[in-house]
Amino acid sequence: MKAYLAWDNAAYENYETIVFAENAKEAKKIAFTCEVCENADYIQVRVKRLPEADKLYKGRVEIDWWDEETRLALVKELGWACLETSSECDTCSAKEYCGNWEDIEE
Ligand SMILES: [Zn+2]
Repeated sequence: MKAYLAWDNAAYENYETIVFAENAKEAKKIAFTCEVCENADYIQVRVKRLPEADKLYKGRVEIDWWDEETRLALVKELGWACLETSSECDTCSAKEYCGNWEDIEE
């Protein structure tokens, strides 16, 4: 399975997910069913290969942000952060690698 970054090109927020598929066409179909693209027109759904995330495949078609090991890899290696920081960030396993978290402490 190959990892693809997926997003709604028409969405205002810079909100992305990662899906796993055999090819870009399949990835786009999967992305269309994800929360990130729930309000998207199919033609606005974009996918892009993300080889660095191939190893994060755990049998689900979409990445699981709530899986601690996965989240740690996303934040540490791919520079992800949650869209809005909240009190939940206090207990986040990846906070020491999170750019947003540092902003709070200053
Ligand atoms: Zn956070």
